[in-house]
Amino acid sequence: NRVWTLAQRPTGTPDDDCFELETRTIPTPAAGEALVRARYLSVDPYMRGRMRAGESYAEPWEVGAPLQGGVVGEVAEPNGTAFETGDLVVGNLAWADYAAAPAHELTPVDVGDLPVSTALGALGMPGRTAYFGTREVAKPQPGDTMVVSAAAGAVGSVVGQLAKMAGARVVGTAGSEEKVEWLHDLGFDAAINYRAQDDYDAALADVAPEGVDVYFDNVGGPITDAVFDHLNTDARVAVCGQIALYNAEERPTGPRKLGKLVETRARVEGFLVSDFSARFEAATADLRRWVTDGDLSYRETVTEGLERAPEAFLGLFEGENVGKQVVKVS
Ligand code: NDP
Repeated sequence: NRVWTLAQRPTGTPDDDCFELETRTIPTPAAGEALVRARYLSVDPYMRGRMRAGESYAEPWEVGAPLQGGVVGEVAEPNGTAFETGDLVVGNLAWADYAAAPAHELTPVDVGDLPVSTALGALGMPGRTAYFGTREVAKPQPGDTMVVSAAAGAVGSVVGQLAKMAGARVVGTAGSEEKVEWLHDLGFDAAINYRAQDDYDAALADVAPEGVDVYFDNVGGPITDAVFDHLNTDARVAVCGQIALYNAEERPTGPRKLGKLVETRARVEGFLVSDFSARFEAATADLRRWVTDGDLSYRETVTEGLERAPEAFLGLFEGENVGKQVVKVS
């Protein structure tokens, strides 16, 4: 049983030295637990917070202990729980070939005819983040101009499509020409490859000449500073993530553009997908229907092999993924 553990906590940008692949025995599930064989595991930006010792909204990973995250797998040993051998489940499990978990922490995979990996992406936590963040926090209206940052990622790509469904004019920012092309395919009205821009302000003026009514922020940093300068009166900003700052050892002073909120009376609201956990089932059902009917598209970047999980995780900070980044374990 191969198990990834945290070798050391990173300073700044993490690298391979933070991770260690150990061989451990396959765990014996305790009473009330099932043994799960991993098929896909999810790597997510929030895991950078778990590498830190300090408090964040997710518990810190312990040095020497297995790394954990969203895993889709099949029940290898139901051990008297309500599951049967071979049942597909999703849960928060170790980055390992096999892991045991309490049955009440495992959810049956319910993706219909779609690939099981979607339970970690468009029909999983990122899809639900987009669903609630767009519909309950950002609330784009017909005629609004909405900007989405990290728009070609797991969350952002769904956000943009849901905002289009709501009737908004949608502009995405992303880090490559390939991503920009994909955003056009998804129906985004405009997209900016921020890596090819030296003047974000001019680029935004070009794609959002009427200003920005709604901003769905996945990144923070210079992109967000630039968008704030284009906020309209009564704009809404939904803060989903700040990936541009996750590896920073020192916080820049600020937020630097709050003066813009005085002028525009705009409102900024952060949220966590878990705030909406009581409604996950309904959200997943909507997402599944839209994907099945062809109303919602998704992409996945699949890295083959458990041994490459750290590489897949580190790639998130380099923008190497298009859509949801997953690791195929078996
Ligand atoms: P993504 O699939 O979007 O992957 C991360 C992307 O971020 C990369 O592909 C890269 O794309 C972009 N990126 C990386 N570094 C930078 C940078 N310095 N500046 C600008 N862009 C950067 O990840 P997710 O969809 O899973 O997550 C997106 C955001 O949502 C994250 O901030 C995450 O923490 C947050 N999140 C929040 C949740 C909540 O409950 N609030 C739940 C889930 C996610 P590019 O090529 O465009 O640079």
